[in-house]
Amino acid sequence: LMQLSIPLNFIGFVYREIRQGLTDIEQMFDLLDVPAEVKDKPGARPLQVTQGNVRFDDVVFAYDPDRPILKGISFEIPAGRTVAIVGPSGAGKSTISRLLFRFYDIQRGAVTIDGQDVRAVTQESLRAAIGMVPQDTVLFNDTIAYNIRYGRPDASEQEVRRAAELAQIGPFIESLPEGYKTMVGERGLKLSGGEKQRVAIARTILKAPPILILDEATSALDTHTEQEIQAALDLVSKGRTTLVIAHRLSTVIGADEIIVLKDGAITERGTHRALLDRGGLYAEMWSRQLEASEAEERLRRARETD
Ligand code: ATP
Repeated sequence: LMQLSIPLNFIGFVYREIRQGLTDIEQMFDLLDVPAEVKDKPGARPLQVTQGNVRFDDVVFAYDPDRPILKGISFEIPAGRTVAIVGPSGAGKSTISRLLFRFYDIQRGAVTIDGQDVRAVTQESLRAAIGMVPQDTVLFNDTIAYNIRYGRPDASEQEVRRAAELAQIGPFIESLPEGYKTMVGERGLKLSGGEKQRVAIARTILKAPPILILDEATSALDTHTEQEIQAALDLVSKGRTTLVIAHRLSTVIGADEIIVLKDGAITERGTHRALLDRGGLYAEMWSRQLEASEAEERLRRARETD
């Protein structure tokens, strides 16, 4: 039995080592929410991004056939423009971003980039063309430099620093005793939601994709952090085709078009101004959010004076 237990221990050791290595990859797949069933078509070609025009044409989609999520959605993001999707929780906003990445295949209609159906191109090229700033960035258990460089592994140290500065997180990193070599992630320094989001922005600045998805954080950030993040986001989305998935409404004001999604269908669309004038669902969501943020601000001030 002794003889057997040694190799078993060893196998256990190797297994744990491998598992640890896999955690990063698992985290990455969790982050991307990648189901395994979507495959490249035989003979799929790489996506050629010429302009960066994104279209959804009459898209019908359900995760599970009995429960339709998107019921015939059409919209276009002209190259370099910003379209924001807003709507109640569960309306299908994040689903739209997953379909642009082709994490799932749709049941009807088409999703195209510069006229190329996402089902016809290689997934590798599709995912390379789209940058994502997720609401909750998973950090690898490695240095902060590694985490930023993940956006483009061959980036120089100088490029990493520049990206961090543009993402408004440079001064914070420099203030850490070990600077860019600081270990972060679960076993290192825990970053706040706003800091993590800025790491994600820095990554995306390095990746410089022609198409961008901003999945706005649900969690409330303080006004100052929010302004910093907004500045960084404006910078990264400039000149790029941008889809904003807005769980709060702060990033949508400047969007070229706002699409209001409800129960899987578009109920209103237009600019911030036009939608406020319309006095519909968007205007209602907006005033509710204003009230909520004013209440938060009052609470914060009350705490400060305590
Ligand atoms: P929120 O603002 O709360 O994030 P959302 O508008 O982004 O909501 P989605 O995440 O797109 O909503 O989800 C739309 C619906 O699809 C929800 O009812 C959700 O339960 C369902 N759904 C999401 N992901 C899956 C999945 N992987 N499998 C099955 N159903 C899912």
